[in-house]
Amino acid sequence: MAEQKLPTRAEDFSEWYNQLVLKAELADYAPVRGCMIVRPYGWALWENITAALDSRFKATGHVNAAFPLLIPRSFIDKEKSHVAGFSPELAVVTHGGGEELEEPLVIRPTSETIIGHAYSKWIQSYRDLPVLINQWNSVVRWELRTKLFLRTLEFYWQEGHTAHATFEEAEFETRQMLDIYTDFAMNEAAVPVIPGRKSESERFAGADQTYSIEAMMGDGKALQSGTSHNLGQNFAKAFEIRYLDKTGALQHCWTTSWGLSTRFIGAMIMVHGDDQGLILPPRLAPYQLVIVPIFKSDDEKAGVMECAQRLRKELVAAGIRVKMDEREGQSPGFKFNDWEMRGVPLRLELGPKDVAKGSVVLARRDRPGRDGKSFVDQAGLATVVAQTLIEIQQALFRRALEFRKANTYEPADYGEFKTAVEKGFAFSWWCGGAECEASIKEDTKATMRCIPLDQPGGSGVCVDCGKPAKQKAIFAKAY
Ligand SMILES: [Zn+2]
Repeated sequence: MAEQKLPTRAEDFSEWYNQLVLKAELADYAPVRGCMIVRPYGWALWENITAALDSRFKATGHVNAAFPLLIPRSFIDKEKSHVAGFSPELAVVTHGGGEELEEPLVIRPTSETIIGHAYSKWIQSYRDLPVLINQWNSVVRWELRTKLFLRTLEFYWQEGHTAHATFEEAEFETRQMLDIYTDFAMNEAAVPVIPGRKSESERFAGADQTYSIEAMMGDGKALQSGTSHNLGQNFAKAFEIRYLDKTGALQHCWTTSWGLSTRFIGAMIMVHGDDQGLILPPRLAPYQLVIVPIFKSDDEKAGVMECAQRLRKELVAAGIRVKMDEREGQSPGFKFNDWEMRGVPLRLELGPKDVAKGSVVLARRDRPGRDGKSFVDQAGLATVVAQTLIEIQQALFRRALEFRKANTYEPADYGEFKTAVEKGFAFSWWCGGAECEASIKEDTKATMRCIPLDQPGGSGVCVDCGKPAKQKAIFAKAY
């Protein structure tokens, strides 16, 4: 697959992305426009993402369950802003078993309504709270402009849904899950993210407060990479999710929801990838190391393969995810390019001379060419590999953070602001007014990404209207 080069990122970032996804065999187009086939390599990456998140969810008391794909149409109509937000993108089932259905069913665009319905039956008393459930599933939203992983009709994700006795507990949960997404993004995916609050216009349909993590892609645009919503009592009132408190009074619950999707794979591609292809962070890479045996004659092959198998076993025993590239009829050079395209963090080259010397060649994906190559003794190899993988993980994070810092501006006036959002993030004073936000969007195509939780303090003047402002916000063009 790697015989043709990608367009460079500088030439055409969008096309670089499209071709990379196909050539790295992460995903493919489906017969239905806008749908996505996730190929085994992409799914292996998603499995590692799910494992890293799932263990964090369980460590904070959450359990998994499965709710139905089909939702009665009337459910969606029960929460006013929810119906307004989701109606345009619903896929509706009108026929089943050859007959028109009495009530149309929607394919879940998200599951607040059907889960709210279940919670109203399950929750009676304060003793039943909190309810902390997550589900791993796929949902459908009828998107018009689609792009593999970033925006597809059907996508895979997790959606957490919790119910609490008080506002404070729901807000704690909302923020806790935002922290978990932040920790996951930074420490597993090596993607530096900015946790913050959304503006009213960018909120989830039906939420009182939406928080998100925002990341800067390799072209300076923003990608919302995970969201956590405090739903207040909106869904509790729409679905009668109520409980008897300690005094015997009937109260509505406070609910939350939070999600992270296969979109995050798009973030990892666009944050770490280079002109040769994908670069995967070692902690999530399906293969952390690929062994490319090099030989010409059958004699050489026997010696090299025996050594390669022994090293593979040692590395696997040390907990390292290893792929042995035994493909016949492909040159080592072809294999090098192929695994570079697929972003495997470390390549181990082993030829007859290396076998004789008791060493191997290690090549780092994040530092292409001679610079990233080293000769390493076979004795103690697993220790060196484990240490190098840690270094690659840290180097990827550092590089991404430096890139974001270099492309984040603090414009002094609106003129500078307009230049800033052409190149990256504008971190600007904002009065909080919806008119300023709308006028900026209209004029520059940049949207208010988030009001970072980490604020500099003090005050300034709004970049748009010049009125006093107490908070700084990130504005950027976004995927
Ligand atoms: Zn303003």
